[in-house]
Formats: sequence, C-alpha cells, structure tokens
Amino acid sequence: MRFKSILLFGAPGSGKGTQGKILGSIPGFYHSATGDIFRSLDLQSEMGRIFWEYAGKGKLVPDEITIKLWKQYIKGMEMINQFHPDSEILVLDGIPRNIKQAELLDDTIDVVKVIHLICSDLNKMVERLRRRALRENRFDDASDEVIRRRLETYDRVTKPVLDHYPPDRIVHVEATMSQIRVLRNLVEFLVPLKEEHDHQREQAVAARESVKNH
Ligand code: ADP
Repeated sequence: MRFKSILLFGAPGSGKGTQGKILGSIPGFYHSATGDIFRSLDLQSEMGRIFWEYAGKGKLVPDEITIKLWKQYIKGMEMINQFHPDSEILVLDGIPRNIKQAELLDDTIDVVKVIHLICSDLNKMVERLRRRALRENRFDDASDEVIRRRLETYDRVTKPVLDHYPPDRIVHVEATMSQIRVLRNLVEFLVPLKEEHDHQREQAVAARESVKNH
C-alpha cells in the first residue's frame, strides 16, 4: 500500500515548514519534513557528517541517501505507532526535491495533491531566510551566498518536479499573504480530500467486516 500524500512545494522561505507543522497538528494528518529529519541527526554520525557537508554549502544531499533515510524514518514512525498510514494523510515538506527523488518515491507515496506555495517577491523570501537563520541558528542560511545558491537550486532542479505530477492535482497559493490567510487557503483544499479519504476508509472497513461475517 502506498501512503496517501500531500506535497508542500515551494522555494526555501516560502513557509512550507510553518504551514506543514500546523497541518500536522490536525488529527488525520502527519507532517514529515526532510530538513528536520536531517537536522535531528547526530553530527558525529556518518549521515550527520554527510548532511553537514552538503547543506552547509547550500547543496542537496545525494538522492539515494536522502530517499533511503526518509523511507527508513517513515517506516520507523509507523512501527512505533507515531504514523498511522491507514487513517492519516502524509504532509511532505522538502521532499521530493528533484525529478530523480520523485521517481524513487513513486513506489512508496500516492500523491493526491501538490500545494505549490508561490512567492513572487524574491526580496521577501531572502529576508525571511535571514531572519530564520538568526532565530533558529540555521547554519545553512547564515550567508547571503548560501541563500542565493539554495534559491537558485530550487529554480533549476526542484521546480521541474511539478511536471512529474498530473496538472489537475496541483494548486497554487500565493505565499506572501499572511500566514493565517495561506492556512485558510490550504485548509479549503484539504477538507474535501480528507473527507473523501475517511469515506474510502470507512467503505474498506465495512467491506472487510462483511467478508468476515460471511
Ligand atoms: P528549506 O525549507 O529552507 O528549503 P530544509 O529544512 O527543507 O530547508 O532543508 C535544509 C537542507 O537539508 C537543504 O538545503 C538540503 O541540504 C537538505 N535537504 C532537505 N531535504 C532534502 C532532500 N529532499 N534532498 C536532498 N537534500 C535535502
């Protein structure tokens, strides 16, 4: 069974993490951010060192390593009963970040919606990243040079991921609006999706029960 998933998609600083955390606190949604998984690694471990080596320069961690780590992580969350794929929709933030990653994930996730957070104001984005670097001590946003490289990588290799998914599953939301307004937009897209997911699940449970009783 592939995990039913929503992708939060957008440039660094577009608010994926902020919105993802809020959505993840709603029952029936599970938020998973690759950046957070990487940052939680012990920097002395081999994976931790690899992450530091790439992220510190504003580069993406190699695809195979990233996808393997993420798959292990999500399986682990399922095993310890933190993530319930039967009843929860995954909210992915920061993955897939290029076409190769999208292909490597196709056997594991069923993408039902892609939410593209668009930011037409580049200066606003850079400003958000600078502020976050100070607030969260983020070494990867510590210099304008690294911020610039991360935004450039997004345009060149991440944005084409949008072409990997059917256009009718992609919605665009302006990310420069206030956070609560962005949230309202996202919730409007997600309500019908969640209700449909619950409905399908109820039907599957009823079908299983009826097989059992005959
Ligand atoms: P942001 O939301 O600002 O883009 P993230 O927290 O998602 O930042 O990512 C921080 C860093 O972690 C990235 O610059 C990259 O080095 C690494 N990283 C996160 N997700 C991935 C991924 N899917 N593939 C490769 N590297 C990743």
